[in-house]
Amino acid sequence: MGGVTARAPGFAAALRAIVRGDVREAEPLARYSTYRIGGPATILLPSGPEDVGIALQAARRAGVPWFALGLGSNLLFPDGGLDALVIRLGKGIDGIESAGEHWRLGAGLPGPLAARRSAEAGWAGLHKFVGVPGTVGGGVYMNAGCHGGEWAEVVTRVLVVDGNGQERWLTRADVPFTYRRSGLDGLVVLEADVTLRAEPRERLAEEVAELFRWRQEGTPFSQPCCGSVFKNPGGPAWKRREGPRTAGQLVEAAGLKGYRVGGAEISSMHANYFVNTGGATAADVRALIDLAQSRVREQFGVALDTEVKLIGTQGEYLHG
Ligand SMILES: Cc1cc2nc3c(=O)[nH]c(=O)nc-3n(C[C@H](O)[C@H](O)[C@H](O)COP(=O)(O)OP(=O)(O)OC[C@H]3O[C@@H](n4cnc5c(N)ncnc54)[C@H](O)[C@@H]3O)c2cc1C
Repeated sequence: MGGVTARAPGFAAALRAIVRGDVREAEPLARYSTYRIGGPATILLPSGPEDVGIALQAARRAGVPWFALGLGSNLLFPDGGLDALVIRLGKGIDGIESAGEHWRLGAGLPGPLAARRSAEAGWAGLHKFVGVPGTVGGGVYMNAGCHGGEWAEVVTRVLVVDGNGQERWLTRADVPFTYRRSGLDGLVVLEADVTLRAEPRERLAEEVAELFRWRQEGTPFSQPCCGSVFKNPGGPAWKRREGPRTAGQLVEAAGLKGYRVGGAEISSMHANYFVNTGGATAADVRALIDLAQSRVREQFGVALDTEVKLIGTQGEYLHG
């Protein structure tokens, strides 16, 4: 292999020969994103953690870019698909083990499942994330969170593999977590160790049910979307201001609730959620993002940054 793209005939065949798991060619990324948007790509569903390293080495040798994928709940893939090898962490990398307060979680494990299982066993910390629909790996990479909590608060160490296929453990102090960022760029998370705290099971069960209800009532849960499109504007000056403050309030105050481009719509339930009403393209969503940013800038002088990751054809991150 040498100097090819992930779509080139031969790359998938060569990968199949050395890796365990499923290598799917021309697979629509729409099937792997909660937005149900995205063109074709070569996707590896690795059988186990060691297959991720093998695939990364193969991609490096071939000069092929790669992209780590969890449940695709924070991504907008391009309509033309990707020229990168997509490594989708799920089954086979989804273990869950516990010893008292210490829990070891596979990166492909759905975060809501980790939240429920640990809460049922009487351990608090992850339970807050029951309504955040990604994997453990995606949660760590994004430093996802809600209700004042974030993954950075519970993580003690993470097992990562780099682009050369080398695995290593990083302690919490090695990971430069900030708001919705881990700084783990160029690495694939394979496992996360978290430390939780004991709390009565009944109380946790109530809290989980309450958080889940809150989610279902406040967000368009049943429509394909990516969660919050924009980060909330921040900074001390911002906190003192009057009027609309959150990204959703700003987009709503700009009069855009319910506004549509093609199949994409700014949810009438929550203006920071842009939903796919059926047949939306990435171009439709991008047009809505551009519109919301320019209206909010004109009317309120605020620059909204995207929280959803806009992905380019090589798997690179585009600026929102
Ligand atoms: C209805 C809804 C509600 C949401 N609510 C919230 C919320 O309250 N708070 C919040 O923070 N987010 C929220 N989100 C966004 C999203 O769920 C989180 O960002 C989640 O952590 C993404 O996980 P994922 O597995 O889907 O990652 P993906 O969307 O698959 O990927 C996101 C990023 O993480 C990287 N990544 C994924 N897995 C790995 C890995 N194993 N190793 C390295 N990098 C990896 C990808 O390359 C990509 O850059 C919501 C989304 C939806 C659809």
